[in-house]
Amino acid sequence: MSAVSDWEVHVIEYARSKDQPWASLIQGALGDGAIDLPFSFVLARRPGSVALVDCGFMREGQGEVMRAKFGIPEWISPLRMLAELGVAPDDVTDIVVSHAHFDHMGSLGKFPKARIHVQKREILSWYELLALPARFGALTEIINPDDLRRAFDASIEHRLNLVDGDVDDLLPGLDVRFGPGHTPGQQFAVIGTARGRLVVSGDCVYAKRNLCGHAHDGVYVPLSNAVGSAWDQLLTMERIDKELGGDLSRLIILHDGERWPGLPVVAEIDGFRIVRAA
Ligand SMILES: [Zn+2]
Repeated sequence: MSAVSDWEVHVIEYARSKDQPWASLIQGALGDGAIDLPFSFVLARRPGSVALVDCGFMREGQGEVMRAKFGIPEWISPLRMLAELGVAPDDVTDIVVSHAHFDHMGSLGKFPKARIHVQKREILSWYELLALPARFGALTEIINPDDLRRAFDASIEHRLNLVDGDVDDLLPGLDVRFGPGHTPGQQFAVIGTARGRLVVSGDCVYAKRNLCGHAHDGVYVPLSNAVGSAWDQLLTMERIDKELGGDLSRLIILHDGERWPGLPVVAEIDGFRIVRAA
């Protein structure tokens, strides 16, 4: 484990769905009504690195079709939000992609200088699943093939790092951990900061309840929305739980329905928040 712990971390909200049933997110939530679910990504900076964990999506081409299909009426450009923090697209040195769903890697093409870090299993699995007959389409419905094309372009430019499992210090003080379940090759990030090692969970969890249990009994709750097994999901939740050591204040949930309570809001643009996590 690296001693580097000087990352500055912001969570950037850039979109919201409308009236999304809790039951569509996590299992066993049939009576819990609906939520306007936030969508976010993370900016992490330290000397020499301007890194993103995921990058949101653009309302262009197939990205706009996906936005309409999944009912995400509220959106602001991720680039506009980054500009608020003084970051231009060419400044971004690295993008750690948690998984290939369109709302997590849908702006890759806007960062021509960034090195992209995604699990090999994630990318290659989507090629395999997309090649299946159309009757298997439920597996790939959240995938925008154009995002995979952009990743392919980045590989030709030698900017795509196909990560193979857990890697310490992918960037100094920034580790990635293999976390399959929601998708075949999901990864989550662990970032060394002044207030400890923050876990950016990708979509390994949608809510604290996944880890704490419906009855706060510590019984992990699987997601409703997964390509992999409940078993894989819970093993990934176990890895996150162990990493946190019970300290949920170090967990960053990208679709946090509570919109990151306890973290200071440093800007709010058209109703979308930027919070400082460390
Ligand atoms: Zn996802």
